[in-house]
Amino acid sequence: MSLQLSLLQGYKPLMHFSRSQTVARLVTTCAFFIFLTYCLVLTSTANARPPKRILVVTVTKGFRHDSIPMAEAVIGALGLGGGWETDFARTDEDIAQKMTADALKKYDGVVFANTTGDLPLPDRAAFLAWLRSGKAFIGVHSATDTFHGWQEYLSFLGGEFLTHGPQVEVSCINDDPTHPATREKEWGLTRNVYDEIYQLKGFDPARVHSLLRLDKHPNNKTPGNYPISWTRVEGKGRVFYTSLGHRQEVWTSSWYQVHVRGGIRWALGLEKGNDTPGLSPSLTR
Ligand SMILES: [Zn+2]
Repeated sequence: MSLQLSLLQGYKPLMHFSRSQTVARLVTTCAFFIFLTYCLVLTSTANARPPKRILVVTVTKGFRHDSIPMAEAVIGALGLGGGWETDFARTDEDIAQKMTADALKKYDGVVFANTTGDLPLPDRAAFLAWLRSGKAFIGVHSATDTFHGWQEYLSFLGGEFLTHGPQVEVSCINDDPTHPATREKEWGLTRNVYDEIYQLKGFDPARVHSLLRLDKHPNNKTPGNYPISWTRVEGKGRVFYTSLGHRQEVWTSSWYQVHVRGGIRWALGLEKGNDTPGLSPSLTR
């Protein structure tokens, strides 16, 4: 005899209810389940907005970061609770198929996750027109080490990779502690990070909304303005760039994941954030 059956056979009701008590309990129980269903419907309605769709591009024509598989995994995982579905372009063939003017229509944004060099886009002009029509561009680390000869792309992004020194710990100054990318508890007014830190060229603080920067050279510590992360709006297109993301250990850190998650959500229009360009108040003090 199974344990379950023996328990059932041994069951004796402990209390007896009158008919009116039974009806009252039934009504109460039904009311509770109706309320529960109502709450579930409300919750599902709040989450009913279909997820955004992003295309994560990890094709490289120059240096290939060994953090790319982790970058793909992290962005995909963050999307599960972050409000987006993730597709990938890992090969030239993927780019040829998924980045035509027509194929891009099914995406809400694109992530250049440690891309390098001249990617074989089928139609560069159509790509930028698609972005300016109201799509999201998320550039990570060597996204600025991509398309060096394509000024329109670099201008849209807001900066171009120049060089880097040895990996180093730096203190990032948080220029916008209210922004989704830099407002979580992992980010205070400053945060120390250890990574390969880029120096950029073609960067104009008047053309971007600064999120993170250094006030001294990462390696030789010469005072100055060294951008780390920013947003831009061009047309209706929204750019989030972070130069952090070289090391695999950066990708697996919670402070970096909340940074990337918030940046992607802002670029996709899922969260609001100040996008006023120009020198931050802390720079003009
Ligand atoms: Zn790197």
